Amino acid sequence: MLDNPLLIDGVWRRPAGRRTADVVNPATGRTIAALGLAEAQDLDDALVAAARGFAAWRRVTALERARILHQVAALLRKRAGTIAEHITREQGKPLVEARGEAGAAPEHVEWYAEEGRRAYGRVIPSRIPGARQMVLKEPVGPVAAFSPWNFPVAQLVRKIAGALAGGCSIIAKPPEEAPSACIELARAFQDAGLPDGVLNIVFGVPAEVSDHLIRSPVIRKVSFTGSVPVGRRLGALAAEHVKRATLELGGHAPFIVAEDADIDAVARLGVGLKFRNAGQVCAAPTRYYVQSSVFDRFHEAFVAGARALAVGDGARDGTQMGPLANSRRVEAIDGFVRDAVAKGAILSCGGRRLGNEGFFFEPTVLADVPDTARLMTEEPFGPVAALVRVSSIDEAIGRANALPYGLAAFGFTRSAATAARLAEELEAGMVSINHFGLAAAETPFGGIKDSGYGSEGGSEGLEAYQSVKFVSQAAA
Ligand code: NAD
Repeated sequence: MLDNPLLIDGVWRRPAGRRTADVVNPATGRTIAALGLAEAQDLDDALVAAARGFAAWRRVTALERARILHQVAALLRKRAGTIAEHITREQGKPLVEARGEAGAAPEHVEWYAEEGRRAYGRVIPSRIPGARQMVLKEPVGPVAAFSPWNFPVAQLVRKIAGALAGGCSIIAKPPEEAPSACIELARAFQDAGLPDGVLNIVFGVPAEVSDHLIRSPVIRKVSFTGSVPVGRRLGALAAEHVKRATLELGGHAPFIVAEDADIDAVARLGVGLKFRNAGQVCAAPTRYYVQSSVFDRFHEAFVAGARALAVGDGARDGTQMGPLANSRRVEAIDGFVRDAVAKGAILSCGGRRLGNEGFFFEPTVLADVPDTARLMTEEPFGPVAALVRVSSIDEAIGRANALPYGLAAFGFTRSAATAARLAEELEAGMVSINHFGLAAAETPFGGIKDSGYGSEGGSEGLEAYQSVKFVSQAAA
């Protein structure tokens, strides 16, 4: 399947050169495939195709676009099982999570299919009798999109479906680490009858691809999900070439537990959110600010929950946490834990690499972590939680807002007044109170501060691919 990994102008083909990247199963550490990487010539071909694809697709009616997207969703539903297996084999998450990810993909496509039909403009009352002042929403143009490996399908589908529903063509570079599910996703668009050149898929050396595409005059919009340092670079390049950008960057979510919360239930949810996808989730909580009076109870329940998790190959029945995506992440998490302990944190459970095969790390809980630990300021992107006592909600909010990140934040309380304060005062693009309520197709997903700008999902996700044209028309 990876023999012809590039989709350019409706044809799956080999790259022009011979460079490849290894695709590794993180549960075994073994290479399972070699993925061909695009050369400049392939990228130029993709740009020509995207320009042509845009010229055709922008003229297709919103109704017809919706018809094709609904067909894509139906195909994705049929193929969800295969897609989930690819995700687990190449990215590592447990099959049950991979099935959830693959199963949600059609929902995103359907949402955009319908929202594209509601891309309303407006008419502004004119100062001149008989004139019409119209605001039209137009597709912004060919898009260059870069999506990461942690949710190979969920991250990619939102970019493709949003761009297409908005009338744009797209060149997407999915993650080289987990290509197969992304290729299967793209096939569904092709099989549903999407015209050639509207969706193009390339794999390559990430910096080469982004540099080449963003500089091209064909590209009018950049969408990137990944780390803050890379986002800064791509955002700067987009700005230099005056291109619109949506940047979904890292996070370091606070999780505030007030003393009036249902402590056992909140601890269970906190464990689930932390160790899902082995912590490799941009919206995952890391800093648990718990009021002192309930800290011990929360700590005990949280540690018990973390200890009880079944860690193993995601393809095996019963696995609740899989491996990390690659050896870089194992080393990074090991470094965070050592540093925190050296600075005075208490290691409550976990803290070590697991086994000699694959990239496993124990679910790890650290307590009383000082703010000087790197874990408290850098995004760990792995299975490690920091539990910290706070004396008041004021203190929790102050510490939550102290970092430059602003993606997600969580708060738990039975008090309506405290809930209102958390919603108002937490500096984050997404605040979830008393449950996990993020990432649905119909709700905006995105950050503020160093976590980036722009949203995916919701009507905001469609607007990201539209520009505004004002037309003022008087009678002749
Ligand atoms: P990384 O920064 O090297 O890569 C992150 C992603 O960006 C990868 O998919 C990579 O292919 C891509 N990328 C890297 N350089 C690029 C470039 N110049 N142009 C275009 N794409 C580029 O880090 P990594 O070791 O692969 O992942 C770890 C870090 O990435 C984490 O600490 C986390 O902050 C971040 N990350 C964030 C998300 C997210 O959902 N926001 C997802 C995955 C990774």
